[in-house]
Amino acid sequence: MAKSDQLADPAAPTGRLSVVATPIGNLGDLSARAREVLAGCELIAAEDTRHTRALLRHFGIDTPLLSLHQHNERQRIEQLLARLRGGAHVALVSDAGTPAISDPGLPLVRACAQAGVRIQVVPGPCAAIAALSVAGLPTDRFCFEGFLPAAAGARAAVLRRLADERRTLVFYESPHRIAEALGACVAAFGAERPAVLARELTKQFETLYRGSLEQLSQSAQRDADLARGEIVLIIEGAPAGSQERSGAELDRVLGILLPELSLKQAATLAARLTGCRDNEVYRRALQLRQANEMD
Ligand code: SAM
Repeated sequence: MAKSDQLADPAAPTGRLSVVATPIGNLGDLSARAREVLAGCELIAAEDTRHTRALLRHFGIDTPLLSLHQHNERQRIEQLLARLRGGAHVALVSDAGTPAISDPGLPLVRACAQAGVRIQVVPGPCAAIAALSVAGLPTDRFCFEGFLPAAAGARAAVLRRLADERRTLVFYESPHRIAEALGACVAAFGAERPAVLARELTKQFETLYRGSLEQLSQSAQRDADLARGEIVLIIEGAPAGSQERSGAELDRVLGILLPELSLKQAATLAARLTGCRDNEVYRRALQLRQANEMD
């Protein structure tokens, strides 16, 4: 057990990393505690220093900044660890929202945890949670999927694998791809699945579009505004019984393919036709073939 915050190890680094959430649009959402930490720390590791400089200027904060983005994060870690070992208080921010959530930060947090550096959180905005809280779709269990792949084939494969997921699904999506992504969601989850598209949260043009996936997909074709700005897409989970239905569908497809093809060929094709996971299909194909051989 590594309780980096609690063990009084005299050799432990004396510095501290504060992971600080910043606004996703409305500057009024920077918490008082975030301001205090950003003003009081010695160094702020920021995804884009120009972007964070503008935020800090707005609040009259002039703490030094160091860039930490996906292309230099690994090189920066040693530099930051040296400062933290030397007793510095370093804050980590991304351009918007919570660091390490579809944003840089995870490797630094991991390195600090391994090095025994004290890590504290200054929580605040996160687009996924903000969207979920106003979507009106089930929130007791949900599944954050981040960004879908940009390529159509890879996106369809991810969506097929999620078709039977019972938990509410949360995606980030770029405005340029939202119409295409909604079309792919209709194909994978069916036209009727309830969904909410949350656009420009906390900003002047904040809009929530609610409807079935088909309705949202049609709106995306018609209404150019829907595909503008920043977007979170929330989709209700699969209805109860869909797993049983897809199990029955898998058996039906394998029942046709197994007598005609090798086990591997039948399993590969059945996985593509049904969207079920490769290993699940292979296991089921093996069971069905063995059962058949015993008859
Ligand atoms: N770390 C951030 C967070 O905690 O939400 C997410 C960063 S990710 C690079 C940016 C994506 O978050 C956008 O493409 C969009 O999908 C979503 N997003 C960020 N701000 C948003 C907003 N104001 N309204 C809707 N979605 C937003």
